[in-house]
Amino acid sequence: MTAPAHTARDHQPGNGSNGSYWRDIYRAVASIATGLKLTLRYLFSRSVTIHYPFERLAFAPRYRGIHEFEAEKCIACNLCAKACPVDCIYIDATAPRKIDPKTAKASGGELVRFAIDYQKCMFCGLCTEPCPTDCIHMGKLHDLSAYTRQEMVVEFTELDRRGQRTPLPLWIDRNAERIPWVAAERERILRGELATDAADVPSV
Ligand code: SF4
Ligand code: SF4
Repeated sequence: MTAPAHTARDHQPGNGSNGSYWRDIYRAVASIATGLKLTLRYLFSRSVTIHYPFERLAFAPRYRGIHEFEAEKCIACNLCAKACPVDCIYIDATAPRKIDPKTAKASGGELVRFAIDYQKCMFCGLCTEPCPTDCIHMGKLHDLSAYTRQEMVVEFTELDRRGQRTPLPLWIDRNAERIPWVAAERERILRGELATDAADVPSV
């Protein structure tokens, strides 16, 4: 024999069938009060977000951003490309290159191409570790944007011809006039200076 189904009438106040009606109301009110308490606590606590890009956070000391590349020190040994787990570094040179101890710059063949495809790069930093001349670094910028997929393949040798170590993100170029730190970053990139760790959070 099957048990009779519960009806809405069973849960009406005062029918005396059980206390679940008032218990449910108590639980609903208690749950709303708990939620409101939490909301009020965060409403008056210190904000943990910032108004980016007008403000920015300090970087962790080993932050890995868009690469910075010193083309004049690259000997086109391909070690970085071999270390890359997603094969997104493209290198082409006319002949072997080696570091001249007098100038600390690479000579020999011409470095025709050094490019990184940022559609694939996952910022693991593995490419920087085997480099024998320490000419590829993880930078401090993270917001590279473009209108086309082709623009996401950064040609570092072409940047080097313009005196840059790293690409100038579109938004930095467009917002330099109204945001002081963006203007400073734009000037640094155009001067071909590597990022410093001055804005890093202190290491522990
Ligand atoms: S950071 Fe990692 S994924 Fe990006 S180019 Fe270097 S090795 Fe490849
Ligand atoms: S490991 Fe260094 S020197 Fe060798 S190709 Fe890569 S960036 Fe150039």
